Amino acid sequence: MIIVLKQSAGENGLNRVVEHIEKEGLSTHISQGTEVTIVGVVGDKSRLDIDRLKASPFVERVIAVTESYKLANHKFHPEPTSFKVKNTSIGPDNLTVMAGPCAVESLEQMLTIARAVKKSGATILRGGAYKPRTSPYSFQGLEEDGLKYLKAASDETGLATICEVTSAHAIESAVKYVDMLQVGARNMQNFELLKEIGKSSLPVLLKRGMSATIDEWLNAAEYIMSEGNTNIALCERGIRTFETSTRNTLDLSAVLVLKEKTHLPVIVDPSHATGVRNYVTPLSKAAVACGADGLMIEVHNDPEHALSDGPQSLTFDQFDEAMEALAPYAKLSGRG
Ligand code: PEP
Ligand code: MN
Repeated sequence: MIIVLKQSAGENGLNRVVEHIEKEGLSTHISQGTEVTIVGVVGDKSRLDIDRLKASPFVERVIAVTESYKLANHKFHPEPTSFKVKNTSIGPDNLTVMAGPCAVESLEQMLTIARAVKKSGATILRGGAYKPRTSPYSFQGLEEDGLKYLKAASDETGLATICEVTSAHAIESAVKYVDMLQVGARNMQNFELLKEIGKSSLPVLLKRGMSATIDEWLNAAEYIMSEGNTNIALCERGIRTFETSTRNTLDLSAVLVLKEKTHLPVIVDPSHATGVRNYVTPLSKAAVACGADGLMIEVHNDPEHALSDGPQSLTFDQFDEAMEALAPYAKLSGRG
């Protein structure tokens, strides 16, 4: 449920309404926009006398929120969310570009890639240290050593860093070294992991599960938010369909649906969505054109010998060209 306050309510009116709700054991989330102040209510609404609330001199309207996700809901928070990641931010004012290898492979590799992607304009350095591979015999990641290499690359270049975490233990290590946590597609509905991430204070990139509906995805975000961590960006990375020409099918309409349903920023990952390097730049343009707040692009110093996802990784030159080609799209979208 959300309560829209009258413009005349002021601080006093807001406090009175909040007091009334919290007295009944429900929690409130306040969104103070330039035009209106909204009080979002989470909890057992049967404890509230809605008619009395509607009659309050401070209340303009009371609206039921039928969706099961509340904190992630656009109705709860009409302004788009923006949050800081180290020295950059994710939100409506800029185009975030997360770039780097699928997996951290060595210190030298991370330093080389960090320097190159920074030069081309990336804002966040990515690299997996815990790799959830389809086969248990594939490279599983360097774990804590990988995190240390990410940190060294960040210390040298100033780039913010992101790394996927796959367990509570990985979260404990990652928070010491990186600036943002990633939940991978395979763990989107690992609710215990989501709750643990919700207790950390680092911003989160929540990837869409490969067969998840948008509502399931937003409920996964709600799991994290309900533990107190509200700095979440959603990442569309392709879904499973009958089509086999690409690794997954990029659901670009999800960007538009999400912009209606949630205030959280949206990132598009054309690398994992297609698995094909030649499709990355055109789909990046399309993603920016339809309102994405950022991109995640895999870049490797030697894609042919990458320990994972080589075929979808761009070379340094290709990434540089991609960033140049994207600049006018970013400008047209008001992010240039
Ligand atoms: C990744 O970002 O390296 C990754 C494994 O992505 P996804 O979870 O989208 O498959
Ligand atoms: Mn990958």
